[in-house]
Amino acid sequence: MMALTGVAALGGLTAIAGTKKAPWWTDRGAHGSDPAWIEPPVDTIATPAPPSPTATATGTLPSRQEIISRYGTRTPHYWGLHPDSSWSTFPTDTSLTRNSACLTFDACSDSSGYDERLINTLREHHIPATLFVNQRWATTHRQEFESLVADPLFEIGNHGTNHRPLSVSGRSAYGIAGTKDVAEVYDEIAGMHTWMATNYDLRPRFFRPGTAHADNVATQVSRAMGEWIVMFSVNGDSGATASANQVYQQFLLLRPGGILLAHFNRPGSGTAAGVERALPALTARGLRFRRLDHVLPAATSPEQPPRW
Ligand SMILES: [Zn+2]
Repeated sequence: MMALTGVAALGGLTAIAGTKKAPWWTDRGAHGSDPAWIEPPVDTIATPAPPSPTATATGTLPSRQEIISRYGTRTPHYWGLHPDSSWSTFPTDTSLTRNSACLTFDACSDSSGYDERLINTLREHHIPATLFVNQRWATTHRQEFESLVADPLFEIGNHGTNHRPLSVSGRSAYGIAGTKDVAEVYDEIAGMHTWMATNYDLRPRFFRPGTAHADNVATQVSRAMGEWIVMFSVNGDSGATASANQVYQQFLLLRPGGILLAHFNRPGSGTAAGVERALPALTARGLRFRRLDHVLPAATSPEQPPRW
């Protein structure tokens, strides 16, 4: 069942924040001045030229055929959590982004529920966040979804149509089959995008694939469709399987420029209690919270994500 595989899949990410660290992780304090990680050296061979997206300029998506023609013959060289052309951290070199971090919460494809306690905690503390919502969750939690859409505290991101890992070659993650080609990548992004645009006049700027896995061609496709792929630097709740204390400890790993991933579709988990404890501690450190649309450029921008 999707509910069980979802837990196993994201539970598999548990060790990420502890073992896979960004270059700035250990040597950069909350007020560090070393800018090296903000603009790391770019491998000009591996980094493709920015695409020329048409989606955000017109408010409509490029056609499926246009995307297939442009990307259908490309071969990916990377599969995993931090592909090229995706964001796992963001630069903190402006007054708005300095000492800032982003909290992102996903609602995955199963219908396990809505963590009202968590959302209420964010509202009570006036903590902005980006919520990545899967289309199946949105259609089975319509009332809750509409209340989130109406709340200016929250930005709604695209968490896919069928919650599939984003592959152009049929790769899988944690036993969940990914999309099998560029056409299916298009459908995974476009389905939820079109549903949000049609029903709520929303055009999401950010996409997070199911299981947070993508290849480096799929990230280019997503960008060309007007949506940056956003991953994470801190795994906040291990797919909502972590205890409240583990969630608290993970949240304390958040640094300026960091993007934290947790979940709001599992009300029985330790996530809400851990967040309640962590928010005052992080705020006391001087950390400020922003939505992704406050700190990341538009997909049409020539700016490139830092290399993980
Ligand atoms: Zn998910």
